[in-house]
Amino acid sequence: MRSDPSRRNQKKYCRFHGDVGHHTKDCADLKDEIERVILEGRLQELKAERRPRNDGHGGGDSRRSQKDYAHEARGVYHERFWSVSAVKILRFSSADVAFNEDDASGVHFPHNDALVVEAMIGNHTVCRILVDNGSSVDLLYSDYLEKMGIPKEQLEKTSRPLYGFTGDSVIPQGTIRLPITAGEKPRQATTVANFVVIKGGSQYNTVTRRPTLQALRAITSIYHQKVKFPTPNGVGEMKSN
Ligand SMILES: [Zn+2]
Repeated sequence: MRSDPSRRNQKKYCRFHGDVGHHTKDCADLKDEIERVILEGRLQELKAERRPRNDGHGGGDSRRSQKDYAHEARGVYHERFWSVSAVKILRFSSADVAFNEDDASGVHFPHNDALVVEAMIGNHTVCRILVDNGSSVDLLYSDYLEKMGIPKEQLEKTSRPLYGFTGDSVIPQGTIRLPITAGEKPRQATTVANFVVIKGGSQYNTVTRRPTLQALRAITSIYHQKVKFPTPNGVGEMKSN
């Protein structure tokens, strides 16, 4: 959420954002994300992952609550499914993502610049994100994790080393899943990235790599210094800064 926290309604809590300001059922970002999942055809996958709620008691009560839960879930699913308009599906699935010389306005030539953008990660606007097509994991530096106020206890442990260009390896501090939102409203796309956390800092706060770029269907252009991606509201973009 971008707005000033003190000016938000403190009584309404959103489970998607993990923050106050509005109820989960009124969350526009969650609605966009559900639409995105439906459009990507991933809903079946998510439904399969969802297990019936089990409160650990046998007998009629729990059977009834499971039935209620299934009924409720179906209702929510139908409601949300039908709220996806045909126009949005068309815009998303048949959008041409194109670049032309206008996209390069403001870029000084010749340049040899890396693609460095800004995006929302978790609840934070993160600048200096290096976009790198060349590697398979998203990186986040521990100095920046600390700056975001995320305690190290939230990291999942990993013992898989990361290898650099020169063959040197580091053991990451862990991994953390955080939502990343690209672009400006209304042309935004969100995905959940699994960041590998590396001790220390760098001139970049995070490095966004293949899995996230693929999930966003992002197309990068070094020449135009831009990233573009389809959204239900048209083609979104992130300019290199
Ligand atoms: Zn929300």
